[in-house]
Amino acid sequence: MRYIITFLLTATPALADVPNVVTDIPPVHALVAQVMGDLGAPELLLAKGADEHDFQLKPSQASAVADSDLVVWIGPELTPWLDSAMASRPEGAAALALLDAEGTARRGYGAAEPQGAEESGHDGDDHGAEDPHAWLDPDNATVWLGLIATELARLDPENAVTYETNAAAAVDGIAALDAELAALLAPVRDKSLVTFHEAFGYFGDHYGLKLAGSVALGDASSPGAARLAGLRAELEAGGVVCLFPEVQHDPALVEQLAEGTGVRVGGALDPVGSSLEAGPGAYAALLGGIARTIADCAAQ
Ligand SMILES: [Zn+2]
Repeated sequence: MRYIITFLLTATPALADVPNVVTDIPPVHALVAQVMGDLGAPELLLAKGADEHDFQLKPSQASAVADSDLVVWIGPELTPWLDSAMASRPEGAAALALLDAEGTARRGYGAAEPQGAEESGHDGDDHGAEDPHAWLDPDNATVWLGLIATELARLDPENAVTYETNAAAAVDGIAALDAELAALLAPVRDKSLVTFHEAFGYFGDHYGLKLAGSVALGDASSPGAARLAGLRAELEAGGVVCLFPEVQHDPALVEQLAEGTGVRVGGALDPVGSSLEAGPGAYAALLGGIARTIADCAAQ
């Protein structure tokens, strides 16, 4: 008994120093989990199956945000549902907003769309507005692993070496994954693709894919009749090879749009990983899942 008490007394201070970290979405949670390794597990806010643009925190989650030592999130551009919980944190509480962080590559919506897409009937596109889906570029994930390790080391200097070592191993893992996905997608780079919501610009830019448009805008709000009519005309005109539904949205609309056009309906994409098991492996599963779903449809 005395032995156990002695052990607890010596073990507790080191454990107490590991920051209590809250994250917004599964890919950010996965990156933080890799950097923390065996030292601790971050909390994930976005529920399984939920839409990253339209979510409501439970009161217990809002308290977790308020009481956390560190929030790692993309930023207010992606998750307005986090704004009031973030505002409830004490002045000077640590937060790492990744989209706005130094070294993050950023893009605007529509930047990857071909010239003339405007005339093909898209209505209300927010071209040029900030695209917050920056985790879909693995180069950003690589930059973020370093930033997360630096921030954790600042809050918990005793474990700095562990955070840095874990981040370096995770960077190597992303490099290997990236090479594998680039090879998988190389044969379909000339195939014209349409996605459900405009979330894949970073992914398309990174792997050189031809993204011809999307059913819904970047915030995944319901598309209007004019936008749908324009997209249907684009599909009927030919050239588009695959149209992809998404896991959080009913595929009926996508199937209806593609019907009779000869455009193949691919598997459901999951841009935020809300269908995946949360954990350190979710980042690789997320990117790999998107790449395989695209390749499976477009390579036929
Ligand atoms: Zn989105």
